[in-house]
Amino acid sequence: MQLKDIRSLSKEELVADFLELGEKKFRAEQVYKWVASGCEDFSEMTNISKELREKLSAIYFIPTVKIVKKLVSKLDETVKYLYELYDGERIESVLMKYNHGYTVCISTQVGCRMGCSFCASGIEGLFRNLYPSEMLAQVMKAGTDNGIRVSNIVLMGMGEPLDNFDNVKKFLELVSDPDGLGIGYRHISLSTSGVVPGIYKLGELNLPITLSISLHAPFDDIRSDMMKVNRRWNISELINACKDYQKITGRRISFEYAMIKGKNDTDACAQRLAEILKGVMCHVNLIPVNPVKENDYVKSDQKAIRQFAEKLNGLGINTTVRRTLGGDIDASCGQLRRKYENKGGERYEDLQ
Ligand code: SAH
Ligand code: SF4
Repeated sequence: MQLKDIRSLSKEELVADFLELGEKKFRAEQVYKWVASGCEDFSEMTNISKELREKLSAIYFIPTVKIVKKLVSKLDETVKYLYELYDGERIESVLMKYNHGYTVCISTQVGCRMGCSFCASGIEGLFRNLYPSEMLAQVMKAGTDNGIRVSNIVLMGMGEPLDNFDNVKKFLELVSDPDGLGIGYRHISLSTSGVVPGIYKLGELNLPITLSISLHAPFDDIRSDMMKVNRRWNISELINACKDYQKITGRRISFEYAMIKGKNDTDACAQRLAEILKGVMCHVNLIPVNPVKENDYVKSDQKAIRQFAEKLNGLGINTTVRRTLGGDIDASCGQLRRKYENKGGERYEDLQ
């Protein structure tokens, strides 16, 4: 019999399972607390009888992440993990320390099928979606391995969260549950390359999470060249979806913009960006592009980035240049896994 992933179950689902198994509701609640707070093995559940623990381990398993590689930045306290999943697949997570606490950047898929030209995560395509439990396990492991409480989560690691919508939705419910890690929605950011139907679906949930859009270019021709997703849903459709999300949730939207020399860092780009973001309550994050060896993109000069930011701020668009953390440890997601894996997965074009 195939074992069931216990960590992907909500408390209500576990209670229903237990009642069906002839067990008491309060036992399910006890087990849920263990699983939701980072317990990795049934044998650790000290207030549960040995008999029940054995019964449970014949039905369920607790997915965990095993540390394969851990890199600690000498520049700041950023820690990057390469984890192995139960089936041998590998993913990345990053733990970052900010003044307000610890943030974990988690992966939502093994690889990614969106194939953005500047990103290491998409180069090999998509291998599989992560389960809610595997997203939770990344947060738990970062906490236990460093003896800290994680206060914020960003879904900005490998993978496109809105291409794994149902599992991400379940993860958001589980991670914010006060009986579990209790990380509130306001402390969670979800980043998308612009899967427009997913943005509408997320808006319908009306959760106070921060939506982050990887925009990277204000003209369709440049953006379509960098991001295949733009060939499916263009900038105007994307901005309309953002406006809808904002209308429902009232949340400010973040726009990510990786500055690439001679590609998207011109004065005309800044001007156009301000025009398309007019009327959206937003914040723009400029990030010098992180060069990956599979493309020849070069970071914009400091001066060009500063001028771009000044122009946007002058046009009324709140803009900051993002501080890069862990610059010495390949902290940009997808880069570490690439060093250890080299194979081919599913691609976006294959699914059109
Ligand atoms: N798939 C989602 C979330 C994961 S990518 C998305 O694309 O938004 C996380 C962020 O890293 C995105 O903003 C992405 O555009 C950015 N990114 C990827 N590769 C990069 C690189 N080489 N340099 C700078 N930013 C990069
Ligand atoms: Fe996927 Fe995001 Fe990378 Fe694009 S930037 S390939 S959507 S992980």
